[in-house]
Amino acid sequence: MTKSRLALLVAIVALVAAFFALDLGRFFSLEFFRSQQAAITGFHAAHPWQTAAAFFALYVAVTGLSLPGAAIMTLVAGAIFGLLWGTVIVSFASTIGATLAFLASRFLFRDGIQRKFGDKLRAIDAGMEKEGAFYLFTLRLVPVFPFFVINLVMGLTPMKARTFYWVSQVGMLLGTIAYVNAGTQIGRIESLKGILSPSLLLSFAALGVLPLVAKKIVDLLRARKVYARWPKPARFDRNMIVIGAGSAGLVSAYIAAAVKAKVTLIEKHRMGGDCLNTGCVPSKALIRSAKLLSQIHHAQRYGIRKAQAEFDFADLMERVQRVVSAIEPHDSAQRYTGLGVECIQGEAKITSPWSVEVKGAQGTQTLTTRAIVIAAGASPFVPPVPGIEEVGYVTSDTIWGLRALPRRLLVLGGGPIGCELTQCFARFGSKVTQVEMLPRLMVREDPEISALVMQSFRDDGIDVRVGHKARQFVVENGEKTLIAEHDGKDVRIGFDLLLCAVGRVANTSGYGLEELGIGTTRQRTVETNEFLETIYPNIFACGDVAGPFQFTHTAAHQAWYAAVNALFGKLKKFRADYSVIPWATFTDPEVARVGLNETEAKDKGIAYEVTTYGIDDLDRAIADSAAHGVVKVLTVPGRDRILGVTIVGEHAGDLIIEYIGAMKHGIGLNKILGTIHIYPTLAEANKYAAGNWKKAHVSRRTLQCLERYHAWMRG
Ligand SMILES: Cc1cc2nc3c(=O)[nH]c(=O)nc-3n(C[C@H](O)[C@H](O)[C@H](O)COP(=O)(O)OP(=O)(O)OC[C@H]3O[C@@H](n4cnc5c(N)ncnc54)[C@H](O)[C@@H]3O)c2cc1C
Repeated sequence: MTKSRLALLVAIVALVAAFFALDLGRFFSLEFFRSQQAAITGFHAAHPWQTAAAFFALYVAVTGLSLPGAAIMTLVAGAIFGLLWGTVIVSFASTIGATLAFLASRFLFRDGIQRKFGDKLRAIDAGMEKEGAFYLFTLRLVPVFPFFVINLVMGLTPMKARTFYWVSQVGMLLGTIAYVNAGTQIGRIESLKGILSPSLLLSFAALGVLPLVAKKIVDLLRARKVYARWPKPARFDRNMIVIGAGSAGLVSAYIAAAVKAKVTLIEKHRMGGDCLNTGCVPSKALIRSAKLLSQIHHAQRYGIRKAQAEFDFADLMERVQRVVSAIEPHDSAQRYTGLGVECIQGEAKITSPWSVEVKGAQGTQTLTTRAIVIAAGASPFVPPVPGIEEVGYVTSDTIWGLRALPRRLLVLGGGPIGCELTQCFARFGSKVTQVEMLPRLMVREDPEISALVMQSFRDDGIDVRVGHKARQFVVENGEKTLIAEHDGKDVRIGFDLLLCAVGRVANTSGYGLEELGIGTTRQRTVETNEFLETIYPNIFACGDVAGPFQFTHTAAHQAWYAAVNALFGKLKKFRADYSVIPWATFTDPEVARVGLNETEAKDKGIAYEVTTYGIDDLDRAIADSAAHGVVKVLTVPGRDRILGVTIVGEHAGDLIIEYIGAMKHGIGLNKILGTIHIYPTLAEANKYAAGNWKKAHVSRRTLQCLERYHAWMRG
């Protein structure tokens, strides 16, 4: 806790303790007021403004410090100032006092609570940001929880102080009027209990619940409105139709079949989608060959005087296809049919919220369904750079058809796909130039992580051109040339083949979204809410088409939510959980990440500490001649809770799994340090990083005590 926080806490505790120790509560009773009523009203008659100011200040102090007595003071306000002024004074004083308590609670405890339970509170915080004002209004009118508890708890939520103030003032107004009014007849009041009759309490409760109910009804009507123009079938052929049989679609359909729903999976192209056919699988197969070649090239590192590889690029690409074919059965229609999924080959189009038209070899058929899951994936984005169509290009979709190695390859794009393919082709012997508009490759990672990759690329002979903006493609003297802008000057880069890898854009047109009015986000993905629902509560989207991530594992993760919400949403809906999202780029060295990196922590204003461990020092890495890279862990300052990890090095994508598990299940660095890691493995790097954190956090005083203890033991 910071000094200022500690000082405030001590001051508040001292004031509250003094209140009780000196039994000041006795002054906040009906008996006391009645005994002093004549004197007080006399003073008020002589000094009206001073009395009002003093009363106001006292009221603010009582509510601000969450002391008992506000109810009695409200009655007293009625007795002294009458209904109008009593209400005005109490309404403002109580709201200001409540807001001070709210702010104090926020200042003292919110950061700590966020640090400890931030992940778990994310959903509640999001709900509060959206509907907090409604909840607060209800709580103010339905007196279930004491007001001081509401003030303190609300301070821990992300609600804006401004919102808290005005909702509290409006929400407490009726109760204030009722109490101040009762106070005007204070002589007749025997106890606080009788002031609000049960029927009055009930009316307040009804008023409090009203806005929430109204909001739910509006949501319901809005949902019904989108369906209004579509005739609903009396019955449905299926429980769920899935459009697209990539990672997201396959998992959605699998889950539906596993819970015995009738599900149809429609794929227009190849089962397995991008990941199997043009993405993860072929790229990783290619990377394996490239790595082997690199190892042969550096045979001396392994004590082998000379090693040579004889290969034909076409054979490498054929091997890639063999790998794809070997994995194909995992995603095949045959396998999924066996699992209980009806697989249809054809192009799907949503024709109403409950019907999908499929155009296939057998003609066109229309299927009806209770729910639809859109898993239509994404496609390579080709930027509209003048001349690009004239020079021609390949993308991650079409590169797999190449059988001749380009002599000079130009790769446009410094993201994961561009980087992986750049390194492969360089290692096969192409002269590769990689052009990136931004100042570094892999811009999502921290600068020094990008630098490690860029250094490795340069060691591989790759001409890395960052800060180069493609302006135009031309053919000059029969040579394909990129004119790029760098530092305000034109730079010309000749090439034989262009690989365009500047990102992927969701497939959102041509299958009914426009007709149904399903919108897209600024990132051009299908617009969904936290349940992955589109504006039609029975139509869901997941995977690359929904974003915000473009990975196979996130597509599969979302698919669970889409399928379960589609099938069981009427009973219970689940918010997609993005709290622990990992990924890896399979360059050499690999770069793997989970959670925050330093750049993001800074951008979001999240306090963090960094611990690193250099893999160059790791026994197994040295033995493998792979002694390079780093484990970089971000933790909550002073605590072992992990905020994020980046690993660069051999098998980083595998090593990071330990940290993914730790973050997911709330395990800190102390527990990782206390776990036996097999010697000698690369995974020991995780433990050593935890060890470095521990060393930095051992208290000096403890060490001094231990030193004295051992000295004493020696006699
Ligand atoms: C080169 C490359 C390497 C990659 N490497 C990795 C990696 O190492 N790790 C990783 O996690 N991710 C990787 N990815 C990303 C990964 O491939 C995607 O995130 C993943 O495939 C997304 O799955 P999806 O189901 O959302 O979409 P897709 O796999 O694209 O599937 C969508 C399917 O929908 C079909 N479809 C579309 N419209 C219709 C329609 N109207 N009717 C019927 N069918 C339709 C399409 O034909 C397609 O098969 C890589 C991608 C590329 C391009």
